[in-house]
Amino acid sequence: MKFPIRTVLAGGCALSLLTAASAAWGAERSAPAGAAKPSATPTATAKPKPKPKPVDCAKVKCIALTFDDGPGKYADKLLDTLKKHGAKATFFLEGQYVKSRPAFAKRMVAEGHDIGNHSYTHPKFTEIPLENIREELKKTQDIVKKVTGKYPTMIRPPYGLLDDDTKTAATEMKMPIVLWNGGSRDWATKNEKAIYDEVLKNAKRDGVILMHDWVTQTVLVMPKLLTELKKRGYHVVAVSSLPGAKSLKPADVYPAGAAEDKDLSSDSPTGDADTPVEAPADGT
Ligand SMILES: [Zn+2]
Repeated sequence: MKFPIRTVLAGGCALSLLTAASAAWGAERSAPAGAAKPSATPTATAKPKPKPKPVDCAKVKCIALTFDDGPGKYADKLLDTLKKHGAKATFFLEGQYVKSRPAFAKRMVAEGHDIGNHSYTHPKFTEIPLENIREELKKTQDIVKKVTGKYPTMIRPPYGLLDDDTKTAATEMKMPIVLWNGGSRDWATKNEKAIYDEVLKNAKRDGVILMHDWVTQTVLVMPKLLTELKKRGYHVVAVSSLPGAKSLKPADVYPAGAAEDKDLSSDSPTGDADTPVEAPADGT
């Protein structure tokens, strides 16, 4: 018999919130124009761009935005926005979509984002045997490596549900388990302002925020959200840049306490019968 650890995370009805963020809602900033093109001749040696300094989250305020279930159909647009804002993200990919949208997965890795393993077909790990958990994870490791050249470095089980078998598989595969400690409820509200407000409500230093790149409103609100996070002093980084994520051992659960947090309401679709399901990939 299995004893699932139900992950219950930041939630509540974002629609009723009136936060300081609301005041800034109308202030959409248009995308800055790119730098003027150099008038170099074709024979000129192109100077390599100076590499941006790595962000030191021990010294500056950081936050990690994470996107589950992808690569989603809007991932390209999201990647454009992240690039424009100099932000890094973490994508917890499903193997089946890596197979169907390989170019997006490839681009995520090429542009320096973190990749995590979110299973192949999104089953509840608490309801399938260890053997199947292994297979779900292994198939996804393989397809991501094949497509991007790199293996995912962390696991986020579907719905944030994990049990001892999940930890066993993570130990075998030498990967930590990364959950979240702040939600967006984007899958539920599908409303740009609600998503914006919910993320800003849950934003905290070194926080890990859960979002989905198959929710079009999430992708649409991202420029405004990144602008506001920056205004509040945040550097938007991949999970691996967070101080607490640097020394994780296989099967460690991060952020600390996320799996046991009972005070927070559910931020993830549970897959229960009354949960709205959006095919083909809902949930977290
Ligand atoms: Zn998911």
